[in-house]
Amino acid sequence: MNITFDREHLWHPYTSMKNPLPVYPVESADGVRIRLTDGRELIDGMSSWWAAIHGYNHPVLNRAVTEQLAKMPHVMFGGLTHEPAIELAKRLVELTPPPLTKIFYADSGSVAVEVAIKMSLQYWQAQRKPERNRLLTVRGGYHGDTFGAMSVCDPVTGMHSLFSDVLMKNIFAESPRCRFDDVWNEEYITDVKTKLYENKNQIAAVILEPVVQGAGGMKFYSPRYLQRLRELCNETETLLIFDEIATGFGRSGKLFAMEHADVVPDIVCLGKALTGGYMTLSAVLCTDHVAETISAGTPPQLMHGPTFMANPLACAVAKASIDLLLSYDWQARVQKMETIMKETFEQARTLPNVADVRVLGAIGVIEMQSLVNVAEFQERCVENGTWVRPFGKLVYLMPPYIIDENDLRYLGETVVKIIEA
Ligand SMILES: *Cc1c(COP(=O)(O)O)cnc(C)c1O
Repeated sequence: MNITFDREHLWHPYTSMKNPLPVYPVESADGVRIRLTDGRELIDGMSSWWAAIHGYNHPVLNRAVTEQLAKMPHVMFGGLTHEPAIELAKRLVELTPPPLTKIFYADSGSVAVEVAIKMSLQYWQAQRKPERNRLLTVRGGYHGDTFGAMSVCDPVTGMHSLFSDVLMKNIFAESPRCRFDDVWNEEYITDVKTKLYENKNQIAAVILEPVVQGAGGMKFYSPRYLQRLRELCNETETLLIFDEIATGFGRSGKLFAMEHADVVPDIVCLGKALTGGYMTLSAVLCTDHVAETISAGTPPQLMHGPTFMANPLACAVAKASIDLLLSYDWQARVQKMETIMKETFEQARTLPNVADVRVLGAIGVIEMQSLVNVAEFQERCVENGTWVRPFGKLVYLMPPYIIDENDLRYLGETVVKIIEA
């Protein structure tokens, strides 16, 4: 493999073309193991960024792709439809709360967020209140890298401060201060409440990640927060958008993180694990009410339609991934992962360079006192046969659900050992 060519020509996520961080050449991946071209095998702690929940090269998912490939890899979704799109939609409607019935397929998580924002703007346009065209969100969020999505990412940790002058001027409230298990205190939501009421005639929707703030800081907050937020949105007739792109499909211990709170948003974005990490695909679900309101507007169309909308290969593998997930007791598996990560991370709590340790479902986080040297940390992980990629002050694990107990313990212990050294 020509690594020099990679270094000279390929941008990787958030990298510079000058002295790029090292990249490791991968030969193949199977189960929870990533095999490098030099023969080394790494136990995967990342699920390729929340996505590969069933591990790699899964026979059931491979079959779904090849069977669909034999029929057609793609046809346009304008004026045509197909079985994979319909079968996946049936499952998404069944698995999400009853009011969420209308589905828009998009290409990636970021685009799903764009579509959700667009839905909320069109919803108010249709009701002749075009002045309701801003979003309210909380700090510490991450919603993707495109312009609409960037406009609701944390202005500091969201990695997009360079563009602040050209982004939509949205409204930021303080991030949820309550931890997952904290007893509720109304003060936790005062800032959102004040900003929502002060600006209610300009706000189209509130958008946030339910329960788990992902790439913006890996924080878990109280489900009660979402219940109060739903009430505040109802009082001010504001739409509520949940970004479940990271949390969807079991990662937080519930199939969707919103189930911790038993709250239904008006719009929800899904992505990442939707296809079990095989293909890029996202989905935006909205309520009948939102869809009907938009469709009663002028124009009545939702103004979006990507070229690769509802790609049949992606829909087929997404359907297979969901069926696979539901075919076993994934909840017990994720619960077990939570227990093991809590056990193995416990030792890290007392280390002087560690600020916090938190685990929820299949997400384990060690927050350091200072920034982690990613290249160095990763080198140590690779030497020890593990694949972990820290960012900022955070070292975290979110392995595939199929990981066995020994591999998971080894992952957790290795991370703690490296932090200790
Ligand atoms: C990753 C992520 C996105 C963006 O998804 P992409 O597929 O990378 O565009 C949006 N929201 C959340 C919560 C995410 O974790």
